Amino acid sequence: MFFEVQPGSETGDRRYRELVEQLDMPMLIHVDGTIVFATQAVVDLVRVEDLEALKGRQLVDFIHPDDLEVVVAHMVRILAGEPSERHRYRIRRADGTDAWVAAAATPYLLGDVAGALVVIEDITARLDAEAKLRASEVRYRALVQNSADIVAIVSAEGRLTYVSPATAAVLGREVDEVAGTDVRRWLHPDDSMVIERLIGRLREGPLGEGSSATFRVRHQDGAWRHLEAIATSRLDEPAIAGVVVNARDVTDRIAASARLRRMALHDSLTGLANRTLIEDRIKLAMQQGPTAVVMLDLNRFKDINDSLGHAVGDVVLAEIADRIRRSVRSGDTVGRVGGDEFVLVLPQAGRMQDIGATVDRIVSNLQEPIEHGTSRFRLSASVGIAFAPEHGTTGEGLLRAADAAMYRAKRERSGPSVYDHRDRERSIERLALSSELIDAIELDQFELHYQPKYDLASGRLIGAEALLRWFHPTRGLIPPDGFLPLAEDTGAIHVITRWVIDTAVAQVRAWTEQGHDLSVAVNLSPSSLQDPAFADHVLAALVAEGVASERLVLEVTEQTVMADPETALSVMRRLSDLGVRFSVDDFGTGYSSLTYLRMLPVTELKIDRSFIGDDCGAVDHDIVETIIALSRRLGLQVVAEGIESCDATDYLRSAGCDVGQGFHLGHPVPAAELDLGRPACVVHERAAHGSAGSHLAS
Ligand code: C2E
Ligand code: MG
Ligand code: MG
Repeated sequence: MFFEVQPGSETGDRRYRELVEQLDMPMLIHVDGTIVFATQAVVDLVRVEDLEALKGRQLVDFIHPDDLEVVVAHMVRILAGEPSERHRYRIRRADGTDAWVAAAATPYLLGDVAGALVVIEDITARLDAEAKLRASEVRYRALVQNSADIVAIVSAEGRLTYVSPATAAVLGREVDEVAGTDVRRWLHPDDSMVIERLIGRLREGPLGEGSSATFRVRHQDGAWRHLEAIATSRLDEPAIAGVVVNARDVTDRIAASARLRRMALHDSLTGLANRTLIEDRIKLAMQQGPTAVVMLDLNRFKDINDSLGHAVGDVVLAEIADRIRRSVRSGDTVGRVGGDEFVLVLPQAGRMQDIGATVDRIVSNLQEPIEHGTSRFRLSASVGIAFAPEHGTTGEGLLRAADAAMYRAKRERSGPSVYDHRDRERSIERLALSSELIDAIELDQFELHYQPKYDLASGRLIGAEALLRWFHPTRGLIPPDGFLPLAEDTGAIHVITRWVIDTAVAQVRAWTEQGHDLSVAVNLSPSSLQDPAFADHVLAALVAEGVASERLVLEVTEQTVMADPETALSVMRRLSDLGVRFSVDDFGTGYSSLTYLRMLPVTELKIDRSFIGDDCGAVDHDIVETIIALSRRLGLQVVAEGIESCDATDYLRSAGCDVGQGFHLGHPVPAAELDLGRPACVVHERAAHGSAGSHLAS
């Protein structure tokens, strides 16, 4: 019914035409641009009412104005009989909307009228999808290219078919250098397996989202970078055909956690293992066989810290750590478990013979002098040893055993000591003692003994040193060395010192009342001068007993003051301003400087008894005479303690020492037993010399 020109029989043609009209393919015939035939699909495409509405319409009515020129030129070529390819253009539908079509036209001759058969395809949806895909591809590429994330595609054979710039950067290279290479070329040899297994697993499928792995790749600078990667298989997807690897450079994170781990297991000052690591190493070593644990504690290290300062102390500790480290084998572990406590773990050692040489080497290395600035000193260590499994089967137990053995070595000033059952008993005893110490004052178990001090020139008794004794109900008399360190550790020392002050000051009053003009010397522990209430307590005691402050002498050692010179000095000044006298005990054994000696308000130096010698040993003349000369220069009284012989007494008097004290002149005794007369020796000597003191002879 459309046709102006009707070929063949009318009914046959109509049937044929109607059939074609129903084809689900947009197709039309135009003659000089006028539509003469169209299929129903064209009606749908251009959105007109029906086929009737297309009849006689101009083809150009349905062309997008911008594409009109191209389409018309095309039509002209077709109508002129030229061949044409499919071409794309936009149509404008009856409802005003546009669509993209691809059309192929063929010249169609109807008698002498030239027409064209046009087959049209609606490609709008496809173009839309393509555009979307293109846009998302652009977006993705931009993301991947600029992202710090490392993205790569690895083919089933292990070839890098795609690498993002970040991937190349992590290798220190250009993308071109890396793309197309075998992934294994960049991997740490130990990690190749990890990746191969991962790819193998992904190749086998079925694949869940992502399998992760951590591996190392080599940067151009030679360093290994750690990557943490998630791999997803896209082997089935032809466009990708590989495993997509998303990775992150976690080198810094791993380094930081390694540092943290090191810090958690190592002592920051010396870099040596700390207690945690030591216990771990002991456990490991014990699994391999017998193991030795050696505990070394520096002797008198505290003096260095106190007198030269913590900074010097730290340098010394680092030096000691180095010396120990250099003295052991590579499988041994050296650790620091306390301020000046070092530990060695020596595997495969079950007897003293196995470690004797090592321990000797360390002990002698430690004794080499240490120089720091102008200071030069020698250190020694007390050494305790425990063996596994004999003395313990846990790290903690072995450390405790070695510690107990070390403690004995220190107390007995002996060489390296191997743990034995007595050490255990002793450490239990120490524990028991510390609780009993607290109650000792309440239970009246302390007593002061007094050791007389004589003026060497006249033989006159001038005072006594108060020395503390603990009468333990079951252990008997415990000397100060046996409990004072414990009292220091537990803090009981404060109460004890106050009791000593009170008792000694009361004793002076008693002597005064008996007509004796005597002073008393009381020993202070390091913490006394750090006790802010100490000075007040001393003054209160003097006032309470009505004793002149000059009659109280407080003995301090160089360490006592050096623990905290500022505080000590202010307490000492306050007391000394009020008349209390200070004496430097054990002089010559510490590390104090002469500057301090000048600054301290002291009136007396006590030459340490190690220089005076014992009843058969000789006096160290050089040191004694130097100290006496120094005292003269500084205007201080000089006392010799530990005098055990007549010869020593004679010598000290002739050397110009002012005061003498020692077993030869009088032992420490309870106040009631103190001989207030003159010692035979001093008097005898002076009589023999025929000096002015001869009238004192009994
Ligand atoms: P120190 O102050 O140097 O006291 C002298 C020590 O030498 C006393 O020992 C005394 O008994 C002893 N000694 C005296 N003459 C001789 C002698 O001729 N030869 C020998 N070999 N030794 C002699 P002790 O009583 O065992 O006291 C030891 C240390 O304990 C004292 O040394 C002192 O530093 C400390 N100490 C004693 N009592 C107290 C106290 O009440 N408080 C404090 N903080 N420390 C005290
Ligand atoms: Mg003393
Ligand atoms: Mg002394």
